[in-house]
Amino acid sequence: MERTDYQRILREIRREIEPFAREGRAADYIPALAEVDPDQFGICIRTIDGRIYGLERADARFSIQSITKVFSLAMCLWLEGDALWRRVGREPSGTAFNSLIQLEVERGVPRNPFINAGAIVLADVLLRHLDDPEGRFLSFVRALSGNDALDYDDRVARSEREKGYLNAAIANLLKYHGNLHGDIERVLRLYFLQCSVAMSCRDLACAFGAFADHRTPFRFDGVSLTASQVKRINAIMQTCGFYDEAGEFSFLVGLPGKSGVGGGIVAVYPQKYSVAVWSPRLNTKGNSVMGMKALELLTTRTEESIF
Ligand code: GLN
Repeated sequence: MERTDYQRILREIRREIEPFAREGRAADYIPALAEVDPDQFGICIRTIDGRIYGLERADARFSIQSITKVFSLAMCLWLEGDALWRRVGREPSGTAFNSLIQLEVERGVPRNPFINAGAIVLADVLLRHLDDPEGRFLSFVRALSGNDALDYDDRVARSEREKGYLNAAIANLLKYHGNLHGDIERVLRLYFLQCSVAMSCRDLACAFGAFADHRTPFRFDGVSLTASQVKRINAIMQTCGFYDEAGEFSFLVGLPGKSGVGGGIVAVYPQKYSVAVWSPRLNTKGNSVMGMKALELLTTRTEESIF
């Protein structure tokens, strides 16, 4: 059987997306992110049998931001199973990642785990169950990606915390409605640290290999999930991974995925590959312009999407 020539396809895609290289702006509501050179691009594909195809800044580490929410969800499902769904929903929100409106109307139950409100509840769950949630979360992410050198970026976390007014408002609203058990400051400290993890496209492609392959038992650093739980994490990535652009990503790319305001996007083709792309300039929905384009072209060129 002929193998897809991913390396050639990546080179072609890179050439084709060059006209978009100056479109969009890097996130600046987190001051430390505004210091990153916005004109960088990296991409890495990892096939399910472990072959790696990378281009340009595939090994440069960046702030994974909201991509971290997938790791939190995996840990929380392991810790709580279906009981988790009493505190957070699994419907797309159709609103911005940091919106407060829906949370007020829906009385403190976040629509899904991938908007900020949902991920702040997940941080609360981790705090409740684990003695050292920061240490345990990091060792899980290290095991998933197979890279023991991964770490939090304290500077990014502190920078976000200093200007984290909206997330503090979300946490207060959750607390008011009885959906946050821990101390607000403590929960936010964990949440901001989780967002600050620095990873490369290669690290992310490797870590998401576990979500691309529900047939191999999911067991990393003592965290285990059933095949059904892994599939459902993918389902939530498909419906909620891009906030109010989830429909557009599904339409253009056709894979489950998750973005972060650091400019990273990961996507999963179940039983085939995981892919991570990074470029800091974002569109108005907070998703990487070049990243979206590259993934759209990848599934178009290869004629491979879940549909
Ligand atoms: N840490 C960011 C925030 O809470 C994550 C948002 C994102 O990546 N979409 O605002």
